[in-house]
Amino acid sequence: MQVEEEEYVPCFSEVDKLQNYGINAADLTKLKSAGLCTVLGVLMTTKKDLISIKGLSEAKVEKILEAAQKHESASFMTGIELQGKRQQVFRLTTGSSALDNLLGGGIESSAITEAFGEFRSGKTQIALTLCITAQMPKTSGGGMGKVAYIDTEGTFRPERIAQIASRFNLNPEAVLENILYARAYTVEHQFQLLTLIAAKMTEEPFALLVVDSIMALFRVDYSGRGELSERQQVLGKMLSRIMKISEQYNIVVYITNQVMADPGGGVSFVPDPKKPIGGHVLAHASTTRLYLRKGRGEQRICKIFDSPCLPEGEATFQIGPGGVEEASE
Ligand code: ATP
Ligand code: MG
Repeated sequence: MQVEEEEYVPCFSEVDKLQNYGINAADLTKLKSAGLCTVLGVLMTTKKDLISIKGLSEAKVEKILEAAQKHESASFMTGIELQGKRQQVFRLTTGSSALDNLLGGGIESSAITEAFGEFRSGKTQIALTLCITAQMPKTSGGGMGKVAYIDTEGTFRPERIAQIASRFNLNPEAVLENILYARAYTVEHQFQLLTLIAAKMTEEPFALLVVDSIMALFRVDYSGRGELSERQQVLGKMLSRIMKISEQYNIVVYITNQVMADPGGGVSFVPDPKKPIGGHVLAHASTTRLYLRKGRGEQRICKIFDSPCLPEGEATFQIGPGGVEEASE
């Protein structure tokens, strides 16, 4: 299935719109090369960070910010206006209705959803299934858009995508064609990929960004205890950038995370002491946190760990040839 261009109405203003407010094309190119491709993206960036973009003086930045504020009328809005804005938010089906129900209808766009759990708990399988549902029409619980996939662990498998696509009666080739995949090797690389993807999202409709996993490279690149505070600072920056991407383009962001082997320093008597890594920085950035664990056989249990609007609860699903499926019982 192709993502149909004619149905695509962008939900954001391209940064080029600032030309109407007297910002010249050369300066707009500078913004875009720094990954700021939308007017909202500019507004979400501090003056300090804008001045650090090569070739932009303080005076220019002030002019740009003023133009951006005018364009977006960035100020207070009423609750009703916010409600109208929130109506663009969609929910992406996971492939299991039990899991969708737990999530209030699916994974919410314009937010970050984090899944953590032990190895083989299904984190990647959910990501792969979402790669297909993201491309389905909105009336079938899809996102009607393309997919960006940042893989830090090398576990993305095109043949698995093809297999899951056939379950949904979609053409595997067409589905793969709509996935932009990148393997990241360092934290810096992960940052660069986010900048590149933001530019792509301005050009074409996207529905999903996957980062599998968010923490793996941070763990490698900042290994010592002495590097922990720096690690958390850089992590905070990255998550803030991801959050801004999800809000600017109204896309679903699904990130996976690992669990700490022994959070209690060996003295924990809690029956299930598994905790996600990434500390408070990640805890605050993720809108919804899901804890996955293994059940009997191919069954997996998902528990809402933290959410602004979902009640605590659990759902059982199963991993099969078609990806995330209903638990059979
Ligand atoms: P890790 O922390 O190692 O990345 P994960 O949580 O990402 O683990 P997944 O890769 O999502 O784990 O899940 C792996 C499980 O998915 C396998 O143990 C297997 O049970 C199931 N699985 C993978 N491929 C298939 C398939 N083709 N058919 C059925 N089940 C599969
Ligand atoms: Mg995995």
